[in-house]
Amino acid sequence: TVCVVALDQQGSMAVGTSTSGLFMKHPGRVGDSPQAGNGFYVDSEIGGVAATGLGEDMMKRPICFETLQLIRAGYSVQEALDRAVYNFVDLLKERNGQVGEFSYIALDHTGHYACATNVDFQFAVATELEKPQLYLAQPQAQHEVK
Ligand code: ASP
Repeated sequence: TVCVVALDQQGSMAVGTSTSGLFMKHPGRVGDSPQAGNGFYVDSEIGGVAATGLGEDMMKRPICFETLQLIRAGYSVQEALDRAVYNFVDLLKERNGQVGEFSYIALDHTGHYACATNVDFQFAVATELEKPQLYLAQPQAQHEVK
């Protein structure tokens, strides 16, 4: 999945996802990417979040929506994303003993961005002043959530 979260000069935000789904997927399968809350979510007054990874796991919880609720409650974009994502990772491990690979990117309405992932993941950031720059995000080794 290719994901984009954008903030314009007027403060409007947008999010987009484009996916081919999963390799060898069943005909008719609908993944997380077209589902608001799961594959993406945006609210110009709060921020936007988008995701890539194993939809079968990601559809079990609307992490993108949850992250925005946490930002609205006062967490920074990185804290909110970490909290939502790593709590979910812990829960899946607890219940299933394993968890698929996935990565989430987020941008808040003030222009701060974050990434949370359980696999090495590259993402790009571009601003009106700077050309797109690549960043490598890595799984958070130790996390304190709940
Ligand atoms: N999330 C997509 C899906 O499960 C796959 C992907 O991100 O590559 O349909």
